[in-house]
Amino acid sequence: MGIDELYPPDRLAAARRATAAAGLDALLLTPGSDLRYLTGYDAHAGERLTCLVLPVQGEATLIVPRLERPAAEASPAPATGVRIVDHPDGVDPYPLVVAALDGPAAAVGLADRMWAEQVLALRAALPGAAQRLAGEVLRELRIRKSPAEVAALAEAGAAIDEVHRRMGEWLRPGRTEAEVAADIAAAIRATGHVSVDFVIVAAGPNGASPHHGTSDRPIGAGEPVVVDIGGTMASGYRSDCTRTYVAGAPAPADFLDYYAVLRDAQRAAVAAVRPGITGAEADLAAREPIADAGYGPAFLHRTGHGIGLDGHEEPYLVAGNDRQLEAGMAFSIEPGIYLAGRHGARIEDIVVCTTDGVQRLNTTPTELIAL
Ligand code: ZN
Ligand code: ZN
Ligand code: ZN
Repeated sequence: MGIDELYPPDRLAAARRATAAAGLDALLLTPGSDLRYLTGYDAHAGERLTCLVLPVQGEATLIVPRLERPAAEASPAPATGVRIVDHPDGVDPYPLVVAALDGPAAAVGLADRMWAEQVLALRAALPGAAQRLAGEVLRELRIRKSPAEVAALAEAGAAIDEVHRRMGEWLRPGRTEAEVAADIAAAIRATGHVSVDFVIVAAGPNGASPHHGTSDRPIGAGEPVVVDIGGTMASGYRSDCTRTYVAGAPAPADFLDYYAVLRDAQRAAVAAVRPGITGAEADLAAREPIADAGYGPAFLHRTGHGIGLDGHEEPYLVAGNDRQLEAGMAFSIEPGIYLAGRHGARIEDIVVCTTDGVQRLNTTPTELIAL
């Protein structure tokens, strides 16, 4: 897929229309996924100001530190029609933001994860402008992935699947979680990711903590091991996949019982995905079979999250989300069962809602993998 397909220049026009419809005069986007979505520029986030000023009318301006001008010019941003303006060290860059606006602004949308020091500096530079979140506008554009974005997510999914397929090379009783994680991280890079976003290797009782990272605790024979890994590809799009393993000896019988429940629940939730069901209904499709088997309280997080240029984004599969799924939405299906002090399990696939059902982007088997 070409970079121009992944980051098509017409997104700026769509963003301007949505910005106007939301009653905002401009978007102000510092480095992050919104800036990248609109311009393709994977900007460095630092104390120097980088900011896309996108007024509803008039030229779009990308303000960059002078030393980063070559990087901005080499990015897809110029092809989207933005004008690049740089500022040297030692000179206040915020007047450039004011100058790039099409007259006085009554309301601006700021990148959702802009640094507080920039939010406050913009408030001082634009005292008459109400500050709102750019996410109000951009979330709706980003929530449905284009075919090129789905292809990029599929490429990321295939890359992380390859790492899971190689788990037997690294995961052995007696090695620590951290040792195994270091090998996994190297493999995540070797499969085409440009960065490792997280590596969870949670053995035995650590598996009961969904966001355990790693530790220096050696993995015991027969201990269930939750391995949740993900990274970012050169495209900007991300992977995220969990499998549960056991090495060196059979897993405990009580674990095998609930693992079977979990696997059925995860498959049921994947199968339930189609346009028209809500995020809450998709969550329930995983939650009900787990609760029916008596493990309801042990499934202590939502069923899934959207994924794209951010690792967690809309839509969320969670109680209370009455938003209907639509073709092009991409998200995780990742129920888990966690028994404090004993062990835990999670199975996670990234899937895309299609016009008539679902496409899995992670395709390795979901049964308990004995190494
Ligand atoms: Zn998580
Ligand atoms: Zn995950
Ligand atoms: Zn996830």
